[in-house]
Amino acid sequence: MGNASTGAKKIIIAIDGPAGSGKSTLASLLARKYNYTNIETGAMYRALALKAIETGVPLDDEAALSALAQRSRIELLPRLEGNCVLLDGRDVTERIREQEITDAASRVSVHPAVREWMVDSQRQMGAGGGVVMEGRDIGTKVFPHAEVKIFLDAAPEVRGNRRFLQNPAAATQEKSVLEELRQRDLRDRTRANSPLVPAADAIILDSTGLNLEQVFQRAVEIIEPVIQPRA
Ligand code: C5P
Repeated sequence: MGNASTGAKKIIIAIDGPAGSGKSTLASLLARKYNYTNIETGAMYRALALKAIETGVPLDDEAALSALAQRSRIELLPRLEGNCVLLDGRDVTERIREQEITDAASRVSVHPAVREWMVDSQRQMGAGGGVVMEGRDIGTKVFPHAEVKIFLDAAPEVRGNRRFLQNPAAATQEKSVLEELRQRDLRDRTRANSPLVPAADAIILDSTGLNLEQVFQRAVEIIEPVIQPRA
């Protein structure tokens, strides 16, 4: 899928969208093409949720969760296939993908004080540019001036089916995956603080009828005119 051209600008590429829309896969392919750092912000909410569960902090206690975040070190190490996630130096990459943590991450992410800590960290991580950052609020809140903003969407049934195929063992039934996605979506879209909405200047990319190669090509068409300096 090609390599970065020399002389290209080091911009911020923000990819937002609901769960199962294919953000992580697209972000990882784009990071590889442009030799950028891929930052999966959802993994940070997941890591904090894991620590809350392990230390017995209630998921509805905003002050305690915020204090917990301040005492935590969450690192995202770039790898070809996605981020390696370290929580206080411990590799939690696999553990944070479990269903219990997925649900808990969605709950901790509603709290404004938690989001404030996350957004600060994410701004530091992306400050130098040359990043593909994916999440729910990157184009609206973390980097409202990102040079490229893509809102990746897909019909709920398609997203549920993709999630089910990704990890059939984690769910007893495809129906339950879809139901869980709907609940997370609803929480993300209706929270008071930084709800999941496309930024006014985001380009909506609906991947419902597209395969991975087509989504990637469309994203590259969006990015190329911005990233390549004029002759
Ligand atoms: O993207 P991922 O599914 O790993 O994210 C886990 C949860 O973290 C999401 O369900 C969402 O509630 C929350 N999240 C968020 N803002 C982000 C990234 C993730 O609220 N930028």
